[in-house]
Amino acid sequence: MRRRTFLRQISATGLMIGSGLSPALALGTSDTVSLTILHTNDWHSRIEPFPMDGGRNAGMGGAVRRAQKIATLRKELEHVLLLDAGDIFQGTPYFNLYSGELEFKLMTEMGYDVATIGNHDFDGGIENLANQFDQHASFGLVNSNYHMENTPLAGKVKPYQIIEKGSLRIGILGVGIELDGLVPASLTGETVYTDPIAAANKTAMHLKMEEKCDLVICLSHLGYRYREEKVSDLVLAAQSRNIDLILGGHTHTFLDEPVVVNNRDQQGVLVHQVGWAGILLGRIDVSFDKRRGKRCFNCANEWLG
Ligand SMILES: [Zn+2]
Repeated sequence: MRRRTFLRQISATGLMIGSGLSPALALGTSDTVSLTILHTNDWHSRIEPFPMDGGRNAGMGGAVRRAQKIATLRKELEHVLLLDAGDIFQGTPYFNLYSGELEFKLMTEMGYDVATIGNHDFDGGIENLANQFDQHASFGLVNSNYHMENTPLAGKVKPYQIIEKGSLRIGILGVGIELDGLVPASLTGETVYTDPIAAANKTAMHLKMEEKCDLVICLSHLGYRYREEKVSDLVLAAQSRNIDLILGGHTHTFLDEPVVVNNRDQQGVLVHQVGWAGILLGRIDVSFDKRRGKRCFNCANEWLG
């Protein structure tokens, strides 16, 4: 398995990425609270594992295998967050037949907490997305840069969601890609795209300053990196403030470990993405020493196959 561990110390803020030791041991204190963030992106209706056709992903993935892995980890770990960065829909006949019902039911069964919207999640039309969400999803949908007041998703998609785990407050916001030219307007209705960096920074400031979140996570469907000048997770990270972790999607980028980018305040932001099709489950363990204001990040992705 291509599982990698890494050790890196960044900035003078006490933000530390490490591995080998359990996060609590690494900090050497009993005042720590541990949080495990599990995440997927672009799983694209891959409900079954890839067929055994000799292809590079043969036998990998599948919702059952993912559900089992998540259930096992939940038994072992103190606090678990389960997140998705969009493009849940489209890619197999299951979506064409059931319009996303299965995907949302499975994510609900697995106990997903929050997801953001990818461009393909509009593929059945915005009304379909709203209906499937209403009927079959018990997780939250976040996006802070699409204005959806005049669409069927009004009031359903929130700019952010706050989740409490033990004594921790975790703020989760979402950003989505420019839809013009990517999705026909007939499918997105009156959704209005606005600058994701401005929206993310405004929302993150609120989460950190007013809501006093211990960790701010941005679920992004912007894409990891582009050759041309276009907003991506790396661009967002460098221009951000108050965001600790960007969990991305869209470019189907497999990262063995998060990349660390200095933000506008010269603080490290972790950027991570785990490919596509649900064959790699992202895992980031964070331990918080609230008394000393230190946090330790550790990455341990899990291949599902
Ligand atoms: Zn996408």
